[in-house]
Amino acid sequence: MTQIQNVAILGATGSIGSSTLDVIARHPSRFRVAALTAHRQVDELAMLCQRYRPDYACLADAERAPLLRERLVAAGVDCRVLAGEAGLVEVASLPGVDCVMAAIVGAAGLRATLAAARAGKKLLLANKEALVVAGPVFMETVRASGAMLLPIDSEHNAIFQCLPPFAAGDFAAKGIRRILLTGSGGPFRARTRADLHRVTPEEACAHPNWVMGRKISVDSATMMNKGLEIIEAHWLFGANPEQIQVVVHPQSVVHSMVEYADGSVIAQLGHPDMRTPIAQALAYPERIEAGVPSLDPFRIGALSFERPDFERFPALGLAYAALRSGGAAPAALNAANEVAVAAFLEGRLPFLHITTVIEETLASASAKSPATLEDVLAADTNARGQAKQIVARFNSNAA
Ligand code: NAD
Ligand code: MG
Repeated sequence: MTQIQNVAILGATGSIGSSTLDVIARHPSRFRVAALTAHRQVDELAMLCQRYRPDYACLADAERAPLLRERLVAAGVDCRVLAGEAGLVEVASLPGVDCVMAAIVGAAGLRATLAAARAGKKLLLANKEALVVAGPVFMETVRASGAMLLPIDSEHNAIFQCLPPFAAGDFAAKGIRRILLTGSGGPFRARTRADLHRVTPEEACAHPNWVMGRKISVDSATMMNKGLEIIEAHWLFGANPEQIQVVVHPQSVVHSMVEYADGSVIAQLGHPDMRTPIAQALAYPERIEAGVPSLDPFRIGALSFERPDFERFPALGLAYAALRSGGAAPAALNAANEVAVAAFLEGRLPFLHITTVIEETLASASAKSPATLEDVLAADTNARGQAKQIVARFNSNAA
């Protein structure tokens, strides 16, 4: 029998967090919940603690942590409550934790995700923004600590499954030609650009195939999600931009493909359900039940593939450009995107201006590569400040 794995879930109340808990609950003899974290959702986190009985719980919003403590004492749950970013970092590095699911959304998850890497954990990476913002620092930390990095993003998990045992940085030697990174095209795949002027946050968050958090749903609608994933694939697998081809695949059944020098193309298929990549990574290299039904090829009938449209979806071109220019550009791309998406979700920025804000912010990104975490955070803060000014300018023009 395999030894029980103690799992910490950063971002336990989110979409990936709850899918992870769903898989874990199916295998009580394999996994134990050791720690859970959330941003500020006291009630939800308290309920999860009552159900899963972790040793630690952490609320990133330190002011609300005493409330969580009270709730847990009243419910008779014996659990240490930590608070703030320092608490997240502590949870990610606990000696009793074997495996960390990094599922905080955005650059807010960077320090904790990096702490798990530094502590040499088995690291299940959903928080793609951490890798986009801090690619070189992140990968060097993983290398130095010997952490086992397993991708959760469905495309990267698919690529991981289609590659020979970790092939990072060695494409030619392993006979790999390129990665075919699939994406559904999002809810606006078939809309004209003129049609996109007045779309609402509700329309943008209504993804045709996946149920996800609001930020990544908007990223799918602009296709910046695919843009971030291009950069993610670069760092995870050592593929250069020319070796990453985006393929629009509206059915979301093929989760990505790897093409080899002999012309073979290996794909990973499955229902669009994040429990599949989560279970694959949790049990790796074994396979376990994830609660996902069999794929029925007769019901699917046909699979289709389209070329991405860089004019209707400028986010793709911006991401390739940021990856090619390097320096602080990927961090600036991500920061500007987070600021613009938040403004769109709050009704302060029209949908089509999301990419305008990113483009303008990128124009002044430094060419110097951030060499330390502090440099990365400075690049992030700087770009956020600029993006906020650009959003404010759009607002005053609209007024
Ligand atoms: P979500 O919004 O549903 O959940 C986010 C989680 O992070 C919540 O638990 C929230 O409390 C926590 N959080 C938010 N802001 C925080 C902050 N400032 N500090 C600390 N914690 C904070 O998001 P999600 O859809 O689960 O996505 C999580 C990550 O996984 C993202 O990076 C996303 O790109 C990636 N991802 C998600 C999916 C998906 O299907 N949902 C697929 C692939 C990748
Ligand atoms: Mg994805």
